[in-house]
Amino acid sequence: MRTQQQIIDDLNYASDRRNCKPAPTKVTVTLEGDEDTVEVQLPTKWEVCDLCNGKGTHVNPSIDCGGLTSEDFDQDPDFAEMYMDGVYDQTCNRCEGRTTIAVPDFELMSEVEREAYKAHEAQEDELAEEEAWERQYGGC
Ligand SMILES: [Zn+2]
Repeated sequence: MRTQQQIIDDLNYASDRRNCKPAPTKVTVTLEGDEDTVEVQLPTKWEVCDLCNGKGTHVNPSIDCGGLTSEDFDQDPDFAEMYMDGVYDQTCNRCEGRTTIAVPDFELMSEVEREAYKAHEAQEDELAEEEAWERQYGGC
């Protein structure tokens, strides 16, 4: 039997934005042709990773996903020092230490590609919403 605090900790961990899949280095969409569908690689540009802000690392979310307060540091100065020194840092989950991620370059896309990308994004959002719902109300 899990305590309420454990459940909260698990939820905090699961919903921490650092717990993500690595950003893809290619952005592809499926275009519906008259007779068949084709996978098209979209033009991309490199942008500073929005998760680590170009650092390439971040604190392991299992350390501070529930949020730390100054009390946590006051009560354990050793922990505070190690935390500040980056002892708990790990390679960024999103850019995998590259510090940049590939993002679609809308200026270089054709109109068809742009529409396909928007449709693809809408589908992804829907999927993410469903997953979030299942996390919240699904099996525990
Ligand atoms: Zn990063």
